[in-house]
Amino acid sequence: MSERKYRIAVIPGDGIGGEVIPVGQRTAEAVAAKHGFAIEWQDFDWSCRRYAETGRMMPEDGIAQVKGFDAIYLGAVGWPGVPDHVSLWGLLIPLRRELDLYANVRPVRLLRGMTSPLAGRGPEDIDFIVVRENVEGEYSEVGGRLYDGTDHEMVSQLSIFTRRGTDRILDYAFELAAKRKRKHVTSATKSNGIVHTMPYWDERFAAASARHPDIATAQYHIDILTAHFVQHPDWFDVVVASNLFGDILSDLGPAVAGSIGIAPAANLNPTREFPSLFEPVHGSAPDIAGQDVANPIAAVWTAAMMLDHLGEATAAAELEAAIETALEDPATRTRDLGGTADTVACGEAVLKALA
Ligand code: ATP
Ligand code: MG
Repeated sequence: MSERKYRIAVIPGDGIGGEVIPVGQRTAEAVAAKHGFAIEWQDFDWSCRRYAETGRMMPEDGIAQVKGFDAIYLGAVGWPGVPDHVSLWGLLIPLRRELDLYANVRPVRLLRGMTSPLAGRGPEDIDFIVVRENVEGEYSEVGGRLYDGTDHEMVSQLSIFTRRGTDRILDYAFELAAKRKRKHVTSATKSNGIVHTMPYWDERFAAASARHPDIATAQYHIDILTAHFVQHPDWFDVVVASNLFGDILSDLGPAVAGSIGIAPAANLNPTREFPSLFEPVHGSAPDIAGQDVANPIAAVWTAAMMLDHLGEATAAAELEAAIETALEDPATRTRDLGGTADTVACGEAVLKALA
């Protein structure tokens, strides 16, 4: 029997991306060796650095180059001096759209030994997943300006919710909840103020709920929902939201679980027609880049999500457990968690916990 082998495209990107991704790779390889599978990495230098040299974040046929891989593992892209829309529209958004990475998934869990900024909250209170619709909704290019420079100047931007796009993200959320202990889905909405798209989302949510009768549900308007994230994080299991609302919730979620240096994320193509993309929540962190102080845990946890998606659930769970074991020892925490360990030492602690 031949050994299971996964081919992963690696895009370390900018800043601390190049520091934390190698740690994620080493820990993934270590757990792979224990579980009898192999990982073959191929590096891509797509980044703002590349943009400065060539005028492009990635080559013209970039998408075609990565389409055949089993997954994409990305550090962070963005650098001062390069406008955000260049790194977004020159790389991340084309990848999301052309690989149909329609589910953006961010688990939020307070790890053992970590303190939440929410006073009195422990690991039993904070354990939920934010599922964001990643390719349509409010982030459309449809719209524009009229009567520029006159008193009648006006601007509009269309939100687009298709039945297919809405149903598939809602179904993804329900199916995810079915695999979890609490079996509960919360929908973020705003159907009192946004009178066409949000009532439509609610209607499709009711239909999805009917397809999944074993899953309990709740619905909140986005404004009060953000308050509940802070005051009642224990109410949530799977939270599903449109592109814009999900964007907001998926930054707020990791914030209630502590440092952005531990928060993982996945951009998934759940049908597996194309490779999914795995990328920590944090950015390139220019303020600490090159100092070897970046927390590599977000990248390691993101690698665990990647292994899980590839079908290596046991290995993924073991890597996650190793993260928790490593972090329990204050000596292995990086500066953002109040410790003094450097990036490499923190990674070594995870490797030791695995061994
Ligand atoms: P982006 O626009 O790409 O999201 P950003 O500038 O908004 O980037 P980050 O690059 O994530 O945000 O940085 C936000 C803050 O968090 C910075 O002070 C940074 O140093 C800190 N930070 C981010 N990631 C880490 C990490 N892995 N370890 C320690 N600190 C981090
Ligand atoms: Mg940012």
